[in-house]
Amino acid sequence: MAERLIGAIEAGGTKFVLALAREDGQVLAETRVATRRPEECFPEVADFFRRAVAEHGPIASFGVASFGPIDIDPASADYGRFTTTPKPGWAGARFHDCLGEFGAPIVVDTDVNGAALGEWAMGAGQGCRTLAYTTIGTGIGTGVVQSGRSLAGFSHFEAGHIAVVRDPAIDPFPGRCPFHGDCLEGLASGPAIEDRWGTSLSKLASPAEKVELIAGYLGQLAANLVLLHMPDRLVFGGGVMKTPGLIEALRLATERLLGGYVRAAQLDPGLERYIVLPGLGDEAGITGAILLGKSAL
Ligand code: ZN
Repeated sequence: MAERLIGAIEAGGTKFVLALAREDGQVLAETRVATRRPEECFPEVADFFRRAVAEHGPIASFGVASFGPIDIDPASADYGRFTTTPKPGWAGARFHDCLGEFGAPIVVDTDVNGAALGEWAMGAGQGCRTLAYTTIGTGIGTGVVQSGRSLAGFSHFEAGHIAVVRDPAIDPFPGRCPFHGDCLEGLASGPAIEDRWGTSLSKLASPAEKVELIAGYLGQLAANLVLLHMPDRLVFGGGVMKTPGLIEALRLATERLLGGYVRAAQLDPGLERYIVLPGLGDEAGITGAILLGKSAL
């Protein structure tokens, strides 16, 4: 049987990673394209895959792990279409517009769900039944994978926008979310940190108490993830999580917030095994996109 090839896209806020991969995950061609408006981006995306097809053969399926909000309901007529994203030009754009010419099935999920799937299958979530993957970067989001499938309701989860407790005496920053002000993303995303202190968390001169403040917000999400989903492990990735000391502070905050209420073998004392960094590093997203494409074969 001829080898089936997968086209994969990790569509992020600043760049798209495009890959052509074999079914076993081996990447045959890969490139990066800066995220601009769809009418600027999509032609470059299509062009990459046209050249990849010319060199390696036809594409059997596409997997797309994308920023959102985006319709990820396969039963919807707008499957793969961006909905309310504030990113200029993207509301209403649809991946099928640039991938349709290849005549292959297209599986679309969110970027965090894709990364969660990648970590579950090949990274720090291997062996877990239920894994929650959270990214803390330009935005905040969580994907929950159970037995190889990402969980969703009528739409994908929006964990970045949960309400968190903020003490204005300690943190007067009102938050930057245009919808909620001081929701989690409004307080603890990379841009929120830059707005509050003028630089990234890892570049601050005396970061310990600042790291603890951010960890306190992230810990509220982590504790809620435990209470809502009882995942076997929590993976925390994204640019902000590269801050030295942050994951240690996050473990402490989460354990404190849980207050010993949940007793399980998964929750090791100190949570060093429970809350971990991504095993695939920055490759989780494109790995997940390839797996999404594979699921359509
Ligand atoms: Zn919000």
